[in-house]
Amino acid sequence: MEKEQYEKVLEAIDGSIEKWNSIVHAEGEDEGRHNCPLCKIFFDSDECDECPIRKDTDKKSCRDTPYDVFEKHWNDVHRSYTTINRTIVCETCSGLARDELEYLKGLREKYIDENKSSLDEYFWAIESPERPISDHNNLVIVDKDKKIVNHPYVLSLFCNRITAYEGTNRKIGLELDDLDRIKLEN
Ligand SMILES: [Zn+2]
Repeated sequence: MEKEQYEKVLEAIDGSIEKWNSIVHAEGEDEGRHNCPLCKIFFDSDECDECPIRKDTDKKSCRDTPYDVFEKHWNDVHRSYTTINRTIVCETCSGLARDELEYLKGLREKYIDENKSSLDEYFWAIESPERPISDHNNLVIVDKDKKIVNHPYVLSLFCNRITAYEGTNRKIGLELDDLDRIKLEN
């Protein structure tokens, strides 16, 4: 997973935790997907596909999570024509909202555990190792499944020349000196 995406999702999980924290403290309301930071990223993209909650339960729309129970209780017991958004009304609401908050906190830990280490597991690779050395070739960064994670390339090797791709290298910090040699930091 790209670092940017990882951080974006983590931020959304934190946003959801904040939302449920405020509901538990009788400050916030649940407007379903309309005030869920995770839904804002994932709901439109078809069936919650990449949402960490969907990945956790393998069900869409938060089915089989404490949210499901909270929503059902609220709709069964408290819904009326004048109230649209869900707030804490009774002891049961309060307990169920706490369950959802705890679920999200656990999800955050799980998400970090599952994704953090894969961020560090990048490797250098020659894009086409079978090509003769005189041919055009590229140095790339791959993940553990050998999938290229950066584009464009880090370095291109062509006709005895090394070209550094600035866009990528601004993040990585590889530079060429005046003689097109790769500069390494001491
Ligand atoms: Zn209630």
